[in-house]
Amino acid sequence: MCGIMGYVGDKNTTAIILDGLAKHEHRTYDSAGIAVIADGKIHETRTIGRISKLAKKVKEEHFSNGFGIGHTRCATHGEVTENNAHPHISSDNKVVLVHNGIIDNAQEIRTDLEAKGITFHTETDTESAVQYLAYVYEGDPKEAITKLTKRIRGSYALVIMFSDKKDEIWTASKGSSIVVGHTNKEGFCASDPSALLEFTNDIWFMDDNELALINKDGCKFFDFDGVEHFKETMHLDWNATMANRGNYAHYMLKEIHEQPHTVAQTLLGRVADNKVDLSNDLDWTPEQAKGWKRIHFVACGTSHYATVSAAHIMETFGTFDIRTEIASEYSYRNIPIGPDTLAIFVTQSGETSDTLLAARLAKSKGAKCLVITNVRDSTIHREVGDALITPAGPEIGVAATKTYTAQLTMLVLLGMYLAKLRGNLKEETEIRLIEGLTSMPAKLASLLEQEQEENIEKIARNFADAKGFFYMGRSLAYPPCLEGALKLKEISYLLAEAYPAGEMKHGPIALLDKDHPIIALVPKNILWEKTMSNIEEYMEKGSPIIAVATVEDEEISRYTKNIIYTPETEPELFSFVAAIPLQLFAYYIARQRGCDIDMPRNLVKAVTV
Ligand code: GLU
Repeated sequence: MCGIMGYVGDKNTTAIILDGLAKHEHRTYDSAGIAVIADGKIHETRTIGRISKLAKKVKEEHFSNGFGIGHTRCATHGEVTENNAHPHISSDNKVVLVHNGIIDNAQEIRTDLEAKGITFHTETDTESAVQYLAYVYEGDPKEAITKLTKRIRGSYALVIMFSDKKDEIWTASKGSSIVVGHTNKEGFCASDPSALLEFTNDIWFMDDNELALINKDGCKFFDFDGVEHFKETMHLDWNATMANRGNYAHYMLKEIHEQPHTVAQTLLGRVADNKVDLSNDLDWTPEQAKGWKRIHFVACGTSHYATVSAAHIMETFGTFDIRTEIASEYSYRNIPIGPDTLAIFVTQSGETSDTLLAARLAKSKGAKCLVITNVRDSTIHREVGDALITPAGPEIGVAATKTYTAQLTMLVLLGMYLAKLRGNLKEETEIRLIEGLTSMPAKLASLLEQEQEENIEKIARNFADAKGFFYMGRSLAYPPCLEGALKLKEISYLLAEAYPAGEMKHGPIALLDKDHPIIALVPKNILWEKTMSNIEEYMEKGSPIIAVATVEDEEISRYTKNIIYTPETEPELFSFVAAIPLQLFAYYIARQRGCDIDMPRNLVKAVTV
């Protein structure tokens, strides 16, 4: 997923664009480029690699100040070369644009235009759009762009400038997200809303099949026939410092440390007097809630694992028929979905295309849909309507951390609220869990104390050369293993498997040896003994053990010296206190191994294609 930044105004355009691109760097980064129009001329430079390299080129080339666009590319068509990097300029030098997405019929357009004598210079699908625009352009950008939108198929956020139109930036969006912002005298567009936060909190999310014109005076919006319409701004209650790394070595570490705060924020206004109340978010009635016979959680990656934890917790309330489904599978299986289904979609960005497609399917089959997302007014929010917005603020690290615990918090509240509406939540359970949740921020903070972190760092140092890890737990301690293993895979590139501790003997036990340590999640509860007897068996195969155990569990030291203690908590809420140690463990292993923690290879923050 690429990053786009556009600016029209009187400030230093290249500085604003480079800074904006850097804020997108966590998304994708095979190559980058920038184009500025000054005095009717397009000045462009591009490079393979990071924004810092682009910034160096920009400095050397002495750009005049004008209005401009920049892009970080995630190549889909054409190799990663400087020549294929965006922006792309038409052969007649009149049009320049950047593109996020894929143009499906690029080859057909290219063949057509080449037959008309137009020479193409790159291997990208994008070039077909810019050459076509120049071909149909007769001085009216809107007319040309509407023609383009009728000619191209695929998904795109296009940001376009015309060399003969001073201080005008155009965007066209279909199936690929882009946001637009304006202060009184300058306009912006970006792929990621957090890139605009230092200028404005009031932004427009472009809809599908929508065009925008951004100039110094304001923004105008049109449909693909060129008809203008009014569009409300959305207010983002994030601030610019939220998107800064501060003194932390990595965004991921900063975001791990933010979790006591983000969990507290998520609880705010949703619990009071030991009661859960989501009526400010959802206007569901008890009758409605009783009518839902099945609950489908649908998500991808970390969000999926948050739902697996939530389902385990909700099962303890006893009355739900719950499925936790991976979004990319949900749409292609014959799962019964209907008006008696409550389908809950969880996506950090709100733009994950697999989740969005699954939501569209559930909606079309009459299911009641709800979305849990960190981005208000994101595509899925707008399409689904009913939403719980996690107030975690912008998450920059590619590996999700604070949005995971915010999702967990929201999911537990939701599970309790649903059970309550259905008349199935025992009062003592409600009180016990709310007390557990409200004490959670302090417990999470205790997990972040220096001594704790140093202990985890030390353990990580001892095991950084391992070939792979097994994460094991039972019952409520199993879902956090899934997320812990995912974190390690994502940022340290080590193979990590999560297994229910009792299941290992049915196959994977064959893999155990001294190079494959086990991370054993053994909270002090009724399954402690059972889990430990599994672990004892695995130790015999030579696997070193790292235990995540409850504070004051002294017995555990008979099995291993590598112990990470977690505060005592309600059994249902163990996923919360397991999250931080496992995130930190993955973080320090990755650091030992010299991995690019905030920008792991092959990964993007939100998978939108
Ligand atoms: N499909 C275009 C390319 O490969 C754009 C990719 C992107 O979204 O960065 O150049």
